[in-house]
Amino acid sequence: SEQRAFRNAHKNAITTDGRRIVVYANIGGVADAKVAISMGAEGVGLLRTEFLYLERKTPPSEEEQLKVYQGITQVLESRPLIIRTFDIGGDKPVPYLNLPSENNPFLGWRGIRFCLDRTELFKTQLRAILRASAEGNIKVMFPMIATVGELKAAKAILLEVQQELQQKEIPFNDKIKVGIMIEVPSAVAIADQLAPIVDFFSIGTNDLSQYVMACDRTNPQVASLADALHPAVLRMVQQAVKAAHKAGIAVSLCGELGSDPIATPILIGLGLDDVSLNPQAIPRCKKAITQLSFIEAETIASEALKQESAAKVRELLRTFKYS
Ligand code: PEP
Ligand code: MG
Repeated sequence: SEQRAFRNAHKNAITTDGRRIVVYANIGGVADAKVAISMGAEGVGLLRTEFLYLERKTPPSEEEQLKVYQGITQVLESRPLIIRTFDIGGDKPVPYLNLPSENNPFLGWRGIRFCLDRTELFKTQLRAILRASAEGNIKVMFPMIATVGELKAAKAILLEVQQELQQKEIPFNDKIKVGIMIEVPSAVAIADQLAPIVDFFSIGTNDLSQYVMACDRTNPQVASLADALHPAVLRMVQQAVKAAHKAGIAVSLCGELGSDPIATPILIGLGLDDVSLNPQAIPRCKKAITQLSFIEAETIASEALKQESAAKVRELLRTFKYS
C-alpha cells in the first residue's frame, strides 16, 4: 500500500466529500525541491533560507541567493514557492554574524527580531527574493512575528526595497504575496489583528509547541511536553485558523505535526486550507486525505480539542470509527 500511496501522490488530494487540501513541501534547497516534486508536492510551502547562511564565512550575496531561488523556481515550474526570510538565532547559530551568547536563545535575538536590527542583511535577502519574483511564482514569509509592530516594520522594509528596485528599473512582482509564520503564542492571541494586514498565515507547530508549553524543544528532559498534539497547542491552531478565515486569508501549517500521518484528520478538521510537510511524508499524507470526509475530520478535531492530554488525542485518532 506504500507503493500505491506513492503512485497516487501525483494526483490532487481530495476528501471523500470533495474538499481539496493542497499539499506542499518544506525544503532547504534545490536538491530538496527535486525530491519534493517526485514525491507529489504541489509547490513549496516553506523554504528555510537560513541553510544558505550556515557553514560558511560570510553571508550569501544577493546574486548567490538569487541563483538559488531561481534554481528552485525552475524545478517547480509554475508551482508556488514560499520563501521564508532567514530565521537565524535560537538553535541555528552563525559564527560570522557574531551573535552574542544568550541564556535563552529561543527567547532571544532570532528570526524577524534579528532582521529588523540588521536591516542590511535583511534587505539583501529581500532584494534577491523580489528579483526572483519577476519570473517565479514566489511569496515571501516572515518568521517569529510576535507583534503587529514587527510585521508593519518588516513590510515597510519590503516596500523600501521595492521602491529601490523600481527606481533602478529592476523587474520584480509588485503584487508579491506576503505572509507570516504563526509560531509565537502572542501571534495567536492577536491573530485577528495580524490577519487583515497579510495575505496568508502558516502555522509553525515546532516553535509554537515549545512556546505554548514553556518547554525547550532541544532539552530531552522536557522535550516530550512540547507535543503538538496536546490540546493546548491544537486550540491555538484552531484560533489562528478562525482568525485567518474571518479575515478571508488562507492558512497553512508547516510544522512537523503535518508530517505525522496520524495528525492529518485533525489538521483537515481544524480547517487548514493546505499543509506543508517533509517531502518523504507527502505520499502518505495525500493518501490519508483521500480516505476521510471533511465532516468526519471536523468531528475528530472537535473531539481532540476536548481531550486532556496528547496521549488521549493519539488514542482518539487510533480508535476513531470511520464510516
Ligand atoms: C516551526 O517552528 O514549526 C517551523 C516550521 O519552523 P522551524 O522548524 O524552521 O523553526
Ligand atoms: Mg519555527
